[in-house]
Amino acid sequence: MASVPVAVVTGSNKGIGFAIVRALCQQFPGDVYLTARDPGRGQQAVAKLQEEGLRVLFHQLDIDDLQSIRALRDFLKEKYGGLNVLVNNAGIAFKVRDTTPFAIQAEVTLKTNFFGTRNVCTELLPLVKPYGKVVNVSSMASNSALGGCSQELQQKFRSDTITEDELVELMTKFVEDTKKSVHEKEGWPNTAYGVSKIGVTVLSRIQARMLNEKRKGDHILLNACCPGWVRTDMAGPKATKSPDEGAETPVYLALLPSDADGPHGQFLSNKTVRPW
Ligand code: NAP
Repeated sequence: MASVPVAVVTGSNKGIGFAIVRALCQQFPGDVYLTARDPGRGQQAVAKLQEEGLRVLFHQLDIDDLQSIRALRDFLKEKYGGLNVLVNNAGIAFKVRDTTPFAIQAEVTLKTNFFGTRNVCTELLPLVKPYGKVVNVSSMASNSALGGCSQELQQKFRSDTITEDELVELMTKFVEDTKKSVHEKEGWPNTAYGVSKIGVTVLSRIQARMLNEKRKGDHILLNACCPGWVRTDMAGPKATKSPDEGAETPVYLALLPSDADGPHGQFLSNKTVRPW
């Protein structure tokens, strides 16, 4: 199977991830894996796409669970000798009206959106084959949260030399600062989701830089994007885009042609590079 191209989408049993899988099943010339932390919800989603006449495969993946990530890594290595497309879509958000203490919201949100996504990247990026594509689903919330950071933090998050370790340190500090109720004094905005997505956008910029430095000849393109405001369980029924519309930018980035030399290391919405 080493010659069969393979695409993997995290958190794809519903919402935007499910729509990304649907579009990839229609357009990607290879095997497409719908993944879910809960195999029951995953298999139900697979059955829905099969009813639409699409060919889709399933693998369990909980991005909060390193063992689960490593099991997928070993499976991909063994069966395909790597992977061609990785879409990091899985994410969570507390509802605005949720009364869970902010420090807990910060810890839980960062755990999945930043640290979980990073762990997937750590384990799977080395497997991405030449001409592969990596798409990290961030949010415009990262841009507005960046604007709410102190000048000092903004400078760090916009830096072209920030390292992954320094980013991890900053994300960890945010969680610690919320526990001590000093996060605003320390220059953080009052949004756990926004800070988690700053983490995803900055991580993408760092990873793209690392690919340039270490695997230049492999022509891998890695970007972050915002799907827009999409009608899912996360954003609710008033959002402006359907899940299929929300999938458009992530799918565009996942299917960039092999002779494209960009975008790379960018943040996009509506298929357009946005300033960071
Ligand atoms: P959603 O409908 O709530 O779907 C989220 C998906 O992520 C679900 O499949 C969920 O699985 C999965 N997930 C959560 N935690 C996971 C974990 N630990 N391991 C594996 N999967 C996990 O949300 P959505 O609106 O489609 O959001 C998809 C992505 O787009 C997220 O990264 C979100 O932040 C981003 N985004 C959304 C909007 C919007 O307007 N909707 C805007 C900007 C960015 P379960 O079913 O098991 O919970």
